Amino acid sequence: MPGPASGPSNNSNSFVSRREMRVTNQTGALPVVSLGRPYSGPFDFDNLIASLHELFVQDRQIASQQDSTRCGICYLHFVVSALTYREEEGFYVCNNCERALGKQKIPMVRRQQK
Ligand SMILES: [Zn+2]
Repeated sequence: MPGPASGPSNNSNSFVSRREMRVTNQTGALPVVSLGRPYSGPFDFDNLIASLHELFVQDRQIASQQDSTRCGICYLHFVVSALTYREEEGFYVCNNCERALGKQKIPMVRRQQK
């Protein structure tokens, strides 16, 4: 199914590739570990999976509540009272996305029901 490929995701994509460029610039050498803990690879996958799992469990829990609705940006479920309805664009936005968006306007193809 077609996802929201255009719009807000473009920003994060360019952010990721910029970070990847910086990593590959290190000519394949392992980064110097200056932290006082064992180095477990470029990403902490165990931690990532665990936090993602937690997020999905939480999301399903909230989705099962009656007064829950989705954030129009990240598509996670929130209780309506925790969301802000952006009248101009016509969708709900959660606190995280609202902070990330700031005053930026995102025209939506389909407006969410209020
Ligand atoms: Zn959101």
